[in-house]
Amino acid sequence: MIELQDIWKTYADGTHALRGVSVLIDRNEFVYLVGPSGAGKSTFMKLIYREEIPTKGQISVNGFNIGKLKPRKIPFVRRNIGVIFQDFRLLPNLSAYENIAFAMEVIEAPRRVIRKRTSEVLELVGLKNKQNSLPQQLSGGEQQRVAIARAIVNNPAVIVADEPTGNLDPETSWGIMNLLEEINFRGTTIVMATHNKEIVNTLRKRVIAIEHGTIARDQARGEYGYEI
Ligand code: ADP
Ligand code: ADP
Repeated sequence: MIELQDIWKTYADGTHALRGVSVLIDRNEFVYLVGPSGAGKSTFMKLIYREEIPTKGQISVNGFNIGKLKPRKIPFVRRNIGVIFQDFRLLPNLSAYENIAFAMEVIEAPRRVIRKRTSEVLELVGLKNKQNSLPQQLSGGEQQRVAIARAIVNNPAVIVADEPTGNLDPETSWGIMNLLEEINFRGTTIVMATHNKEIVNTLRKRVIAIEHGTIARDQARGEYGYEI
């Protein structure tokens, strides 16, 4: 599903964020990305959702060589990848329903399909009763559920989540993890960067540790492995 071959990423200011990363992630895996701040986790994920392009090396997602993508193909590939952020990034003037529906309007889905699918994902994330609320009227956990609904509404093959529980209290974080596990169970590959030791050590999954831009550790059913 995701393959990085000897990926190097050097930013314009000369920072080497990734230095020769090779990794293969299969369809339907759930992978935690761990490692110190500044290690290269966000860069790794930005390459997957094509926010950045590699300086050197090949990256393919769902069969697309995304480092070499023609610009007109980018939207087509992006709809195959749902992205979730620590700070939710919802549109503040749109309701929960409209935030989710908007992701389908962008790809010009038919209105009838948008209504049906938006209702379906609102149901899945347990927010049917809050569909008309604005983000500011929702708790952090509810906002993250809206963001997850938005990320999955177009049925992406891959979900990339950058510290999705980073702004949430422990109980709310477990709810979000249950939801991500459910989405993974339904067939979506998930790559999640996290500093949440408790979650990683409890819901044991593949752990890829990045340090100084290289893969320091890659374990099936691994552990967090850092003090905090
Ligand atoms: P992490 O997500 O593990 O904290 P990042 O991928 O954000 O790590 O950053 C890796 C390295 O690249 C850090 O040294 C960071 O300061 C640097 N970096 C990230 N984004 C940029 C950028 N746009 N320009 C220059 N340096 C960057
Ligand atoms: P259908 O025509 O398929 O029955 P509806 O238009 O009734 O679909 O919409 C299905 C659900 O989505 C309803 O609960 C409706 O209130 C809700 N809905 C539709 N559009 C919006 C919107 N812009 N904002 C909030 N809720 C909406």
